[in-house]
Amino acid sequence: MVSLYSDIQKSCAQIKEIGLSGCQLNCWDSAVFTGENAGKVKEETEKLGIKISTVWCGWPGPKVWDFYEGHFTLGLVPAEYRYARSEALKQGSDFAKLLGVDQIATHVGYVPENPLDPVYIGMVVALRDIVNHCEKNGQKFLFETGQETPITLLRLIEDIGKKNVGVNLDPANLLMYGKANPVDALDILFPYISDIHAKDGEYPVNGRKLGEEKALGKGRVNYPLFIARLKELGYKGPITIEREISGDQQKKDIVEAVRLLESLISR
Ligand code: MG
Repeated sequence: MVSLYSDIQKSCAQIKEIGLSGCQLNCWDSAVFTGENAGKVKEETEKLGIKISTVWCGWPGPKVWDFYEGHFTLGLVPAEYRYARSEALKQGSDFAKLLGVDQIATHVGYVPENPLDPVYIGMVVALRDIVNHCEKNGQKFLFETGQETPITLLRLIEDIGKKNVGVNLDPANLLMYGKANPVDALDILFPYISDIHAKDGEYPVNGRKLGEEKALGKGRVNYPLFIARLKELGYKGPITIEREISGDQQKKDIVEAVRLLESLISR
């Protein structure tokens, strides 16, 4: 994962140094979705032969990543932010188009389990609008997993009813939000998976806070089984390493994650 706020030249050099050839570009503020920034990113990635698989777009307003305030702040769930956030995601889609990237991803919040909940119905309407915008830009819209059960996400995808909708599967999130076993989730979501976050984590230990994120292989995803199942199902898409810490330890953990993934993929 490369942040649009980082020194792009340095980030691209690090990707090559680690021996990788692709990334996702992450950004939370549509104010930086400028033509100038797109030009800079395009120049650096093209120079080094780095492919951006997905632009991961955030949205404005408050965000609290827990099981309480999360319901009132995250994604397209709170009606008071839904319009502004939909517009921000469409700007993200336009920015991705400038980069020549054909997928955008985001968290849409705690999607209600009840399909007749007015919040759910409002989300389907907003998402159809965003997905139509992505379609015009020749892109897929991907749901980052974790805040809803896999079956709720499957229902949402079916209800949007468009072909250019997919999933950015974050197996660790499914654990950290206490929503599903990530390996089993493949059975439900596999046909829609278009990108994957290689991240690890634990189940929550209380009813208020997310489970802990861990270095790859140190949590409970069970990467040997996860990768074996992906191979069995015939996954050919990208895998993007996500490690939500910073500094030297992050770099060490990413290098270690590459080693582990390569050994599991080559089995
Ligand atoms: Mg993720």
